[in-house]
Amino acid sequence: MICQTVKKGIDCIFMKKSGCGYNGGKCHPIVDKCEGCGRIEEFPSGKYCSVYPDPRIKWQNHSCNFATHVKKESKASKTTLNALKASKRRAAGRI
Ligand code: SF4
Repeated sequence: MICQTVKKGIDCIFMKKSGCGYNGGKCHPIVDKCEGCGRIEEFPSGKYCSVYPDPRIKWQNHSCNFATHVKKESKASKTTLNALKASKRRAAGRI
């Protein structure tokens, strides 16, 4: 249904005939760590995330996995790549 609380006009899964079903009855504004993210939407009521109703929770224990402004480190894949290179070098007799 279409939101009638803080993100008026947006189609939302939490909006019911009885009102917003999300915890607290409305979405929560973005937090400082969200600044720069491409998923921020501005409304007359403030800035909100377009994909998650409570950004504070997304940042509680780690970086938000939906954030567009945070580079993810891929140590595991880098290690795998190096292991592959090492294997090829070993096979070629260069080690
Ligand atoms: S996707 Fe994450 S970082 Fe971006 S606005 Fe939403 S909660 Fe904040």
